[in-house]
Amino acid sequence: MDIDLVTIGTELLLGFTVDTNSAFMGQVLGEAGVRVARRTSVRDDPAEIRAAIREALARSRFVITTGGLGPTRDDMTKKVVAELFDAPLEFQAAIWDELVAKWARFGRKISESNRCQAEVPRGATVLANNRGTAPGLWLAGAPGEVVMLPGVPSEMKGLLREEVVPRLRTRASGVAISSRVLRTTGIPESTLAERLAEVEDGLAPLTLAYLPGIEGVDLRLTAWDMTSEQSGPLFDRAAAGIRAVTGDHCYGTGDDDLAAVLLERLRAAGLTLAVAESCTGGMIGERVTHVAGSSDVFLGGVIAYANELKTGLIGVNPETVAAHGSVSAAVVTEMVAGVALRTGADVAVAVTGVAGPGGGSDDKPIGTVWFGFSIRGAVDAIKVGFPGTRADIRGRASQFALHGLWRRASGV
Ligand code: ATP
Repeated sequence: MDIDLVTIGTELLLGFTVDTNSAFMGQVLGEAGVRVARRTSVRDDPAEIRAAIREALARSRFVITTGGLGPTRDDMTKKVVAELFDAPLEFQAAIWDELVAKWARFGRKISESNRCQAEVPRGATVLANNRGTAPGLWLAGAPGEVVMLPGVPSEMKGLLREEVVPRLRTRASGVAISSRVLRTTGIPESTLAERLAEVEDGLAPLTLAYLPGIEGVDLRLTAWDMTSEQSGPLFDRAAAGIRAVTGDHCYGTGDDDLAAVLLERLRAAGLTLAVAESCTGGMIGERVTHVAGSSDVFLGGVIAYANELKTGLIGVNPETVAAHGSVSAAVVTEMVAGVALRTGADVAVAVTGVAGPGGGSDDKPIGTVWFGFSIRGAVDAIKVGFPGTRADIRGRASQFALHGLWRRASGV
């Protein structure tokens, strides 16, 4: 079943309100087997609203709107839809009594301007709004069907889940649009696409989307209009095929966080962790301590930004800094060995690099980052060149450090 969404509000077009209602509805409706064919945003203007809803009905015959239902907007959406369906607005005393009682419960007297909220297009189903005053309305007629929901996200969400989705589910007969996400990192999108070329041919009827971000590329598999019994085995087979070619670039599924996945692996192996951060300035420690329960694995670390702290706090030899510069294999090796020794951690990572925008040289261009890893005393160093802004480079470096630890801690 395909439907159209129309979100109403001038603020949406000015960009001061982000249209989170559409995103939420797309997800929830997909899970219920309903596809959003198109979404449109229009300003609070009756002619615009009329044109958008008319076009949407002509396309899908089923439209959900949000916004423009409250008394402050003079009920524009409701009036427009009532006209389109030739269904005159009728005052319903029961709704008005309920509104009066609702306000009285909060010790307030409702103003007369709210009376319009008790007006309902003839033949419409009233959807009780337990979180606000304007009820949702569901009107069916010759042009098709329109469900009108309030713009306030909490009210819209409640009505969608409790009143709209249950009614739509009966029409979608158990099928749903469902997704499974595999998370990858440390492999560019183009390389990933090359590796996945042969797997991709065998994915149908599932579809695959590449979702690149600073921390890696998420791969979203989507099953369209299937029951969970049908999609489950397809997802399992596709995920196994993708994992086979992505190897240890694939660190999780869904919204798995790499820091959490790393902590699990270290915990299972009984290993403790420490960090020595220069250009990431504490970002790795932040990522790790963001995960609840990290204290049994993470001992702590040092933000050794100035050379004096690299030498003074974690024992980097000043001569090493003088001979090689602070962004070097020699320095990062001494940083990681030093922090592991001083904290007693089984596993450690050190990072030093040029995040920019200044400070680059021919030798060490912006984006050059050295990583040092120490796993039970076995130390190695690796240099990586990251693209992007200062924020990108620091974010990518933090992710690379976590991924490097995760890989090295496998089977330890
Ligand atoms: P009210 O009774 O409050 O007037 P309404 O149904 O008329 O409700 P609007 O006035 O259009 O809704 O929107 C109320 C608030 O809800 C807006 O100020 C905005 O913060 C939020 N909102 C509206 N539409 C959206 C949307 N599409 N996405 C996210 N938030 C929205």
